[in-house]
Amino acid sequence: MPEKPVLNSRNKKPRGLDFLFSDVQYLKGVGPRKGEALKKHGIKTVFDLFYYVPRKYLDRSLITPLDKLEEGMTVTVLGTVVAFGELRRRRRLFKVIIENDRAELELVWFSGYRYLQNAFSEGDVICVSGTVRRYGGLNIPHPEFEVVGSREDETIHTGRLIPIYPENSLFKEVGLHSRGLRRIIKPALDHLAENPCETIPEKWRKEYGLYDLTRAIYQIHFPDKMETADSGRQRLAFEELFYLELIMAGRKSNRRKKMTGIKIGPPKKMGRKLLDSLGFKLTKAQVRVLNEIYADMAAGFQMNRVIQGDVGSGKTIVAALAMLGAIENGFQAAIMAPTEILAEQHYFSISGLLKPLDIDTVLITGSVRGANRAETMDAIAGGRASVVIGTHALIQKKVEFNNLGFAVIDEQQRFGVAQRGDLLAKGLNPDILVMSATPIPRTLAMTIYGDLDISVIDEMPPGRIPVKTKLVPEDKRHEMYDFVKNAVKNSQTAYVIYPLVEETEKSDLKAATEGYEQLKGDIFPDRTVGLLHGRMKGEEKQKIMIDFRDRKIDILVATTVVEVGLDIPTATIMLIEHAERFGLSQLHQLRGRVGRAGIKSYCFLMTGPRVTEDASRRIEALTEISDGFKISEIDLQIRGPGEILGTRQHGMPELKVADLTDTRLISLARRLAFDMIEEDPALNSEENRFIKTVLKMRLGKKLKYSKIG
Ligand code: ADP
Ligand code: MG
Repeated sequence: MPEKPVLNSRNKKPRGLDFLFSDVQYLKGVGPRKGEALKKHGIKTVFDLFYYVPRKYLDRSLITPLDKLEEGMTVTVLGTVVAFGELRRRRRLFKVIIENDRAELELVWFSGYRYLQNAFSEGDVICVSGTVRRYGGLNIPHPEFEVVGSREDETIHTGRLIPIYPENSLFKEVGLHSRGLRRIIKPALDHLAENPCETIPEKWRKEYGLYDLTRAIYQIHFPDKMETADSGRQRLAFEELFYLELIMAGRKSNRRKKMTGIKIGPPKKMGRKLLDSLGFKLTKAQVRVLNEIYADMAAGFQMNRVIQGDVGSGKTIVAALAMLGAIENGFQAAIMAPTEILAEQHYFSISGLLKPLDIDTVLITGSVRGANRAETMDAIAGGRASVVIGTHALIQKKVEFNNLGFAVIDEQQRFGVAQRGDLLAKGLNPDILVMSATPIPRTLAMTIYGDLDISVIDEMPPGRIPVKTKLVPEDKRHEMYDFVKNAVKNSQTAYVIYPLVEETEKSDLKAATEGYEQLKGDIFPDRTVGLLHGRMKGEEKQKIMIDFRDRKIDILVATTVVEVGLDIPTATIMLIEHAERFGLSQLHQLRGRVGRAGIKSYCFLMTGPRVTEDASRRIEALTEISDGFKISEIDLQIRGPGEILGTRQHGMPELKVADLTDTRLISLARRLAFDMIEEDPALNSEENRFIKTVLKMRLGKKLKYSKIG
């Protein structure tokens, strides 16, 4: 960054891209305090500032003038705060008076005084929604309100649309409320307009009807109409996605180019033997995915593939068959799971699958300690252990592999890209297979797993009957228990799940333990009831799982630890307590624990007294839909693109403008980016050179991520 003032000085104004990516601190009006606040919020450059887009726009034509109000109307109004404060009459109340040139209006509150005291300043222009009452004069009790600017703020008084920026107390403290922001954005934008520059190819702008950069930013912050604000956003969203996809394309092309991966042929004898030992035939989809994996393994580049498939679609056996390729060729294979219990479950089922093949499988988790641990480490280092299953304990420095050639990462959502990297470092470019827990729509998967190849198991094993899913009201609880009793009598088993958000959450654990005691003592006294939670020791957990599988336990009370991966075919009932506290994909995962053996199965949802609107939408979706891909689409809509599936953890830059549900734009950006890298991998052509410059500037310090150029 240049150590010279940018807009603060007359003579030394950088132009074009240099200006766009210069330090925000050098903008006129941004002193140290504002600069610091902006940077704390991730706004480091002028470019970042332009990308700080309004949360929404208020359409002035939908605002009712203050002099047109009548009792009983539900309205949105706009006015300037002229007075506010707490009054002590017969009742304590807080009052705000707003006015515009035509009239005044009172807003009143009967609670929340402390918050309100700090919420307003004289001269604030606020937008208020509520229902008008008459009490003496007209007023609005307990309105929704939002500070949108101040009296002197021109855009508030002229434009039809009033931009509303995200609530940000940090910004407010230093005077960067909406108006303060626009005050620094406007001159910066004017400077850009005088010295325009571009970050995407001109020809695409024409072809896809995208605004030029200046216009886009202008329309976002100072819109003429809703439509033009929207077009501005589209343009920035496209740009954001394009550069994201460009990084992905670069990473992928780099990996392909290197050709330093291990070449492994598909398993022969071992594969046959394993297939013969299964009680079923692979589905067409499983075979197809397996062939995609084998093709990657045989190629000279390092495999990086993700398997997407609904709960119960049979990802585990596919992973096991893939690993055999490595093992038969003399390499070690590893599976990394996100939780201890899942690692144990994998160990349990994989070692079972591989035992007839004489393959040594070891487990390494935090609970494997002492002599056992030392022995396990030895087996891994010496190569005696062909398959190593574990949690992130697996990627600790101390664990040394003899020759790791293939690694499966299960339920990737919970691991970050960094961990993928650590695992990679354990072997000579081992092939990597990621198994995703939650199926997600294709375009989204392409973006999130951007640099990975995707295989989709889009078919369920035959004979699966959809799990009947019901919301059970509290007064039907005992009827439901009777139903469970009956099922259990017919040698089926049931889960009862309690939420446990954090493994350390004491009150949650207490609820599960109490639930367990009650079910054991009062509800099912003549049945065996077991308890499973994350705080139990490894061996304890394993014993419970084995007992449950062998039907020595009829009803398993568990916390969310069973959410992923547990595979007990006799289980036919899934009873979820406080279903309102679970996410939709999580509920779908839980439901996926039953109905795995062609026996009619049930999922009962119980809720606590307080169910939010979103929670009831989730529950409704679950009761109506059984397809995991559709479920995740709805999950996306409910949660919103911002919170999507922990995109941060994927090592994906946070998207500021783009919406991950906009599949059309994502596809376009992806296609253009991948085509560009395919034609010109280092972005060295005359035409593309500026793209490389922009990419570098956008990435700033993160440059090493891309490895382009
Ligand atoms: P997930 O994709 O959720 O990880 P699993 O791999 O745990 O699913 O498989 C779910 C169950 O289906 C397991 O009990 C597995 O043995 C069984 N299964 C897998 N593939 C098939 C198939 N082709 N036919 C019948 N059952 C299968
Ligand atoms: Mg699984």
